Amino acid sequence: MNNRLRVLLVDSDPNDRALAALVLRRELSEFDIEEAGDALVLSARLPRGGYAVVVTEYRLAWGDGLQVLESVKSLDPDCPVVLFASAGNEAVAAEGLRRGLAAYLVKGSAGYLELPAAVRRVVERSAELRASREASASYQRLTEELALGTFTAGTDGRLSRASPAMARILGFEKPDLVVGQNLADFLSDETLQAQVLASMARGREVRDLEAGVRRPGGDLAWVSLTAWPVVDAAAGVIRYEGAVQDISGRRQAERELSERATVLGRSNEELQQFAYVISHDLQEPLQLISRYGRLLANHGATAADEDASRYLAHLLQCTDHMQAMINDVLAYARVDTQAKPFAPVDFVEVVTKAMANLKAAVDESGGQVGWERLPVLPADEAQMVQLFQNLIGNALKFRRGRPQVRIFAVEEAKRCTFAVADNGIGIPQEHIERIFGMFQRLHTAAEYPGTGIGLAICKRIVERHGGRIWAVSEPGQGSTFCFTIPRNLAQAGWIGAPEPGV
Ligand code: ADP
Repeated sequence: MNNRLRVLLVDSDPNDRALAALVLRRELSEFDIEEAGDALVLSARLPRGGYAVVVTEYRLAWGDGLQVLESVKSLDPDCPVVLFASAGNEAVAAEGLRRGLAAYLVKGSAGYLELPAAVRRVVERSAELRASREASASYQRLTEELALGTFTAGTDGRLSRASPAMARILGFEKPDLVVGQNLADFLSDETLQAQVLASMARGREVRDLEAGVRRPGGDLAWVSLTAWPVVDAAAGVIRYEGAVQDISGRRQAERELSERATVLGRSNEELQQFAYVISHDLQEPLQLISRYGRLLANHGATAADEDASRYLAHLLQCTDHMQAMINDVLAYARVDTQAKPFAPVDFVEVVTKAMANLKAAVDESGGQVGWERLPVLPADEAQMVQLFQNLIGNALKFRRGRPQVRIFAVEEAKRCTFAVADNGIGIPQEHIERIFGMFQRLHTAAEYPGTGIGLAICKRIVERHGGRIWAVSEPGQGSTFCFTIPRNLAQAGWIGAPEPGV
């Protein structure tokens, strides 16, 4: 397909036409120059259309240049026409310009020299005009199709234009019903009304303002309003352009979510209280059973009876285990009930304290626990000590030979990842997630003592700090328990879910 631009040169004087065609062909190599010297050729060529520009003499053997202008415009209103005529046609040219003529050039030696540049200018301007018209048409279409309402308003807030979507969002059928009214009057909150008017009067931008809109039917819609000033170099802010988005659906979903979160929070709190009270109150009778059991044993009341003595030993073992479970359930509930605000914590101190609490276990296992450079981060120190104590304690407990435990931290921009790695028995892949649940144990108490709550406490502590915890392991190859703590206090929630990706 031939994409070259085409110029139609209309002149009944063969010499003038030949000269004009010559300069145009020489200077505008990217254009095809077509000529029309009589009415017949012109009427054959014009309807073919597609000309980038038509250059015409005024005085023609069969009529005049203004008639040519008219014919061209009737076929293609966008096609620019240049009048190239002898001097003395200024009045005609003025009339032509009124009717859509793109340029007027006087014939003569200077005129012939200027003709190619003038043609190129006219073609370029017409292409720009076409592009901007197309852009504005697609903008118009977009604003009509989109749910986003757009508007133009004065600095006093009075609307001078509103898109159909804008009218719909405000509860009107047509934009005409909205134009002329004040933007602020649609907002249901008087403080926001005043805020919008004050910003616009001062030439300030209004950005993503969420406001209620009272519709004519009485129902309330929620919108997000943005309006920016259009500034003229000389006159300052001349008007406002803006957009309004209907966010009623989102607001409704947010409200439902927050209501659900409140209900959940309340029932969670009640559960905490319940766990606390139950475990606390259970301690007393249990301690009594244990105390009387020991009294019986000390009295030697069962010494003669071997079975009774065995039963009693078993009963005392059970009460000890139950006591340990109650203590752990209490510790679990205390993660929230006895939480302290976060403050900078030196993790070397944390690990040192955890190690002091674990001295007996370290000595008994003959294990080695080493740690590298550890950071200072905002956290609840007592909870961090408990977290490390549980993880190191497990690393020593679930051992295979002499335990070797290594603690290290990897610092990143937003978070710090801690790891407690051991050379112990390892964990089968299929159980690697469930061990963080309450009472989840992979062994009997006879194999390894414990209650199955230690890791659930670790998880709760880490999540309260806005982080997450996981384990990497292979049976027989040891395990590594990792957890993250956000570096920034603001990222750490009081309880709640960890920030995605932290
Ligand atoms: P407990 O230690 O009281 O059993 P935890 O909640 O601390 O309870 O651990 C749950 C289970 O996860 C343990 O019973 C054990 O099977 C497994 N586990 C935890 N830590 C390790 C570890 N370092 N190596 C191997 N298994 C582990």
